[in-house]
Amino acid sequence: MLKITLLGTGIPNPSVQAFGTSTLIEAGEQRVMIDCGRGAVIRLSQLGLPVGYVDTIILSHYHSDHYSGIFDLLMSGTIRQAWAGRGGPLHVHGPEGVQHLAEGAWLATKPDRDIRVADHEIDPEDMRIIPHVYEEGVVYDRGGLKIIAILVDHGDNIPTAFGFRVEYGDHVFVHSHDTRYNENLIAQAHGADVFIHEVAAARQSTLDNYPNVKIAIDHHSSPAEVGRVFAQTRPKLAMLTHLALLPPDPPSIDGLLAEIGEEYEGVVLIAEDLMTIRIGKGISVEPFRHPGK
Ligand SMILES: [Zn+2]
Ligand SMILES: [Zn+2]
Repeated sequence: MLKITLLGTGIPNPSVQAFGTSTLIEAGEQRVMIDCGRGAVIRLSQLGLPVGYVDTIILSHYHSDHYSGIFDLLMSGTIRQAWAGRGGPLHVHGPEGVQHLAEGAWLATKPDRDIRVADHEIDPEDMRIIPHVYEEGVVYDRGGLKIIAILVDHGDNIPTAFGFRVEYGDHVFVHSHDTRYNENLIAQAHGADVFIHEVAAARQSTLDNYPNVKIAIDHHSSPAEVGRVFAQTRPKLAMLTHLALLPPDPPSIDGLLAEIGEEYEGVVLIAEDLMTIRIGKGISVEPFRHPGK
C-alpha cells in the first residue's frame, strides 16, 4: 500500500482551507515529506502525528509556498516531547541551493537553539539541516520506496524545478509540482495510478489590470494544457492541486473543469488539504475525517 496524504494543496496566497504545498508519502516503514509549505506542522497535528514524524524532506523548488513551513518543523521538531521528538537532524534534499538553505537555517535558528540548549532541553545538532543536492533521476530509494525527480519547466528564471514520480511495488503516484505544460513530465508520468497536476487561471480583465498576475500565470499550466497532459498520460485517476485561480475576480471551478473537459474525458478530482490517497489493489481517496476513518 502506497499512502499519500495531501498536507497542503495551496499557493502563496494565505488560505485556511489550502495551506502551502506539502505531501506526506508513506510506504512500509518509509516516511518522506515532499515540500513543506506554510502550516505543514499544523496539518501533521490534525492527523494526530508528531512534528518529528518525518526526518526527510524533498523540496521541488524554492518558491516560498513550497518550503516556508520548514523552519517551524525544523525548530519545533527538536523538542523532546511526545508531540515533537524528531531526535536527529533534518535531511533536506533539494535542487542546487539547498546548502544555502541549510547554512541560513543554522544561523536563523540560533537564538531559539541557544535558549533550549542552555535549558538542557534539546541536542543542538537536532536543529541542523543536512543538505543533499539532487538532480533529475532517483532522489530516494529505500525499503522499496523510490522517488524519482522529473525536471519540469517552471519558468525561464528557475533553472531547476522538479515534479516527482513515486513508485512502491507496481503502484505509481505522480505529482507535477509547479510547472508549465511540459513534455518531459508527460514522458515520465506514464502508467500512473494517480497523477496530480497543478493548474492556474485568471480572467482576462485581471491579466490586463494586474501585470504581476500575468507574471505568476506564465509560470504555470492553463486548464486546457492540464487537460492535454491528462489526455496524453491517461492516469487511472487524475487530480488537480495548487489551484492558482487568481484574485481579485478568480475564475470559477466550474469554468476550470469545463476547460479541462474539452481536452480530457476522464474523471478529475480536486485535491483538498488532508485528503488521503491509498494506492493498493485499488485506489481510494478519502477527505479528512470521513466517517469511515
Ligand atoms: Zn507553488
Ligand atoms: Zn513555484
